[in-house]
Amino acid sequence: MEQERTARTGSEPQGKRICRRCLTREMAGQERTYETIRQYIDGLDSSERADGKLYERRLEGCKACEKLLEGMCLACGCYVEIRAAKASQDCPYGRWKSCDVEDQTDQV
Ligand code: SF4
Repeated sequence: MEQERTARTGSEPQGKRICRRCLTREMAGQERTYETIRQYIDGLDSSERADGKLYERRLEGCKACEKLLEGMCLACGCYVEIRAAKASQDCPYGRWKSCDVEDQTDQV
């Protein structure tokens, strides 16, 4: 609660920032949410996960998208960090098409 209050007043703990187009991992006051997201991703079977480079390219696409609001996609209601982590998922507007090239390296 204190962290939320701090975030809303603009004081930015640990050098993190408040941003409508930020990912959960980047937002002050969202550390617990990101930890939960991270645990979920870590629990995915490796065969389900997008590789690390694909994951980051998808998230860069989301950060440039007007549908991103504080880590969530307004089109589908998902936390984009979860949606992007699943190899089989796609952007509801098809905006990840250019990201989804064959590039199987390390996983998320
Ligand atoms: S999943 Fe698609 S529509 Fe949603 S924020 Fe990302 S790029 Fe935008």
